[in-house]
Amino acid sequence: MNFARTRIAPTPSGYLHLGNAYAFAMTAAIAKRVGARLLLRIDDMDRVRARPEFIADIFACLSFLEIQIDEGPRDAVEFEELYSQRLRLPLYEAAIKELAAQGHVYACRCSRSEAARGCARDCKHESIALDEPGCSWRLNTANAHALTMKSPGKAEQSVYLADDMRDFVVRRKDGYPAYQICSLVDDLHFGVDLVVRGDDLLASTVAQLYLAACLQRPAFSQITFYHHRLLLSPQGTKLSKSAGDTSLQYLRAHGKTVAEVYESIGRLAGIRRPVASFADICKSIELN
Ligand SMILES: [Zn+2]
Repeated sequence: MNFARTRIAPTPSGYLHLGNAYAFAMTAAIAKRVGARLLLRIDDMDRVRARPEFIADIFACLSFLEIQIDEGPRDAVEFEELYSQRLRLPLYEAAIKELAAQGHVYACRCSRSEAARGCARDCKHESIALDEPGCSWRLNTANAHALTMKSPGKAEQSVYLADDMRDFVVRRKDGYPAYQICSLVDDLHFGVDLVVRGDDLLASTVAQLYLAACLQRPAFSQITFYHHRLLLSPQGTKLSKSAGDTSLQYLRAHGKTVAEVYESIGRLAGIRRPVASFADICKSIELN
């Protein structure tokens, strides 16, 4: 298996934790294994949650973890000047316009909590003008069909849009593009042909495959997707960016060495051989 490019794509919405570190190391290790260049992409479209200290934390963590990036920003200044998603806003907006021109979207007045209760389906039949202020735009997924997903070392798989992805938002109430649009447009823009992400994002992968079909961008369906297990806390719960004592910033501040952090990652990931460095993560990966 050979690939040209994969990426690490953190959102700067909190301090990175051991689960993020595991995801970074897995992606970088797989990139090495398959000869892919590793791009750093920081998903900062959500400017409310993106904070400078969280962007700085991403660079500090990569350096601490001894993970080398081949492409993308080398520091926060270069990120803001050359790589922020704000600079690619016209690309995202063009994609959303294409969807609108082809009748794939409708305006929705519902708040996020109302939509979660299922009220979004009413707006679809109200023909609300797309330029009505304060509306989000949803993709009409009524005709969603089986999609094909490529995974490493496996035959192509048929995948289906998850129930909670029905009529997902492509343009937010504030007018900015939603995550699924930015991620899809960026992966095509940067020439990514291998996406490594946690299995909590499988539903997003399928949503993006459907979006690519609506946008007639067949190149996206040629991307290979590898979904890895998420790292869970010792209690078996999902790690969150707000959880203090699993954040790399906390661990570094309390004198943990890089070897100790990798040991924790290895233990939580259930890797049987000893793990004390990035090189050990590289040795542990198995791509079916
Ligand atoms: Zn609605």
